[in-house]
Amino acid sequence: MDANDATFKDIIAHCKEYGYIYPGSEIYDGLGAVYDYGPLGVELKNRIKHYWYGWMTRLNDNIVGIDTAIFMHPTVWKASGHVDAFNDPLIDNKDSKKRYRADVLIEDQIEKHLEKANKEVTKAAKRFGESFDEALYRETNPRVKKYLDKAEDLRLRFANAAEANDMAALKQIIEDEGIVCPMSGSRNWTDVRQFNLMFSTQMGSVAEGASELYLRPETAQGIFVNMLNVAKSSRLKVPFGIAQVGKAFRNEIVARQFIFRMREFEQMEMQFFVRPGDELKWYEHWKEKRMRWHQSLKLGEDSYRFHDHDKLAHYANAAADIEFKFPFGFKELEGIHSRTDFDLKRHEEFSGRKLQYFDPETQEKYVPYVVETSIGLDRMFLAIIASALREETLEDGSTRTVMKIPYFLSPVQVAVLPLIKKDGLPEVASDIRQNLALDFAVQYDEKDSVGRRYRRQDAIGTPFCVTVDHETLEDNAVTVRDRNNMTQERIPIDNLQQYLLPKLSMSEAWKKTM
Ligand code: ATP
Repeated sequence: MDANDATFKDIIAHCKEYGYIYPGSEIYDGLGAVYDYGPLGVELKNRIKHYWYGWMTRLNDNIVGIDTAIFMHPTVWKASGHVDAFNDPLIDNKDSKKRYRADVLIEDQIEKHLEKANKEVTKAAKRFGESFDEALYRETNPRVKKYLDKAEDLRLRFANAAEANDMAALKQIIEDEGIVCPMSGSRNWTDVRQFNLMFSTQMGSVAEGASELYLRPETAQGIFVNMLNVAKSSRLKVPFGIAQVGKAFRNEIVARQFIFRMREFEQMEMQFFVRPGDELKWYEHWKEKRMRWHQSLKLGEDSYRFHDHDKLAHYANAAADIEFKFPFGFKELEGIHSRTDFDLKRHEEFSGRKLQYFDPETQEKYVPYVVETSIGLDRMFLAIIASALREETLEDGSTRTVMKIPYFLSPVQVAVLPLIKKDGLPEVASDIRQNLALDFAVQYDEKDSVGRRYRRQDAIGTPFCVTVDHETLEDNAVTVRDRNNMTQERIPIDNLQQYLLPKLSMSEAWKKTM
């Protein structure tokens, strides 16, 4: 599926219509790959942040938070390697004039070979029924083997070319595989060139000799340069972690998949500092913990997979992505990297300061090793929205559009609806609204029939609708409708808060990750 696909288009249109996400600077025809979050979008985003940040810093005694500046001393980016090596290989199609990342074109091609193999396997599974031995079939069937070998050969060739930073070899792969431009269908390609992704700007007036600064392309460096400050001021002992949520900026070459690849986006990163030699143990630990965090959102067990890296970044000795099944296929959602002592050592070298930690247990001084978990907040947002939005056919044959966002993340948690706009019902509903607003995000709505209001709340993903009717005036109870199964329960007003609290709390989901 591609950005042109109806389903993906529906998600984008739905996000705009209901105030989740708008194109940036829309009245000026937008700005490439820049988006604004609307009233519901900002609520959902804040809750995702909290689900991540709270999980990191509250459930782990040895992880603390930080909020570092977007501007950093320009030497930081020399030390980190971004000035010299934060490049993507770009290639242009001469007919469509579209620009692509050469590595992405090749990765998509590998995926195509794998998909062909999978199709053969699925067909055979249907044919053979219960007696089907999938592992054996994958090993022995010549057609399946042909596709799998093709994928593997390509993967190896790509890894070697990428490792050697060999742009001509990347171009050769694209030609040999006959990869065509998805827009024009042509093979009329330019050479592959390197392109640095950092945005730069000036600090101070130009007359005084302004210095060139970069907008940070990742939040991690703010954590590295503060490692000793945090360890000392928070009296932390290795192993310990520092977590941060913040903006990052990348001048992406290809930015066409809505909020999947933006030029201004937010990262949620945690750097975990460990004893040298312990890093691979912690790497495995965080891989597993992060996957459990994802699974606790219940977006679908089959929606995630690990992708272990063949080509390691210059700073890593092990790396994996958690990929998510987006509407356009499995793509990176989060990276988990064992970054060794590369960053801290480089900062020692470039700053002339020691970044060593004294370990009271071993009585040794060393530069800690780092395991990082790095997830894009906007990609997480897209993962949630994309799996939540659906069109359901109900028992009576009618349809409803519903966003099945996890209850504890929903931007509006409770809607309070007087059945009609008179007979004192709005007053009672307003009182309930006021009380519930102390604990929950509440919306009050009295316009249109109650059925239409239910549909509106379904469309924005509100888990509970509380309806005040004439009986309420007598029995002091209300009807609570559950978004997912549309069941209704009569609950005394005095018990409402108690009834809703556990159903909307994050702690239940957090517990499942422990
Ligand atoms: P990709 O290969 O998709 O470009 P990356 O490997 O460069 O991603 P990292 O540098 O590992 O990404 O960044 C960590 C996380 O930040 C990614 O897993 C992703 O969720 C998020 N991220 C990176 N670039 C963008 C972007 N342009 N827009 C939105 N999120 C991004």
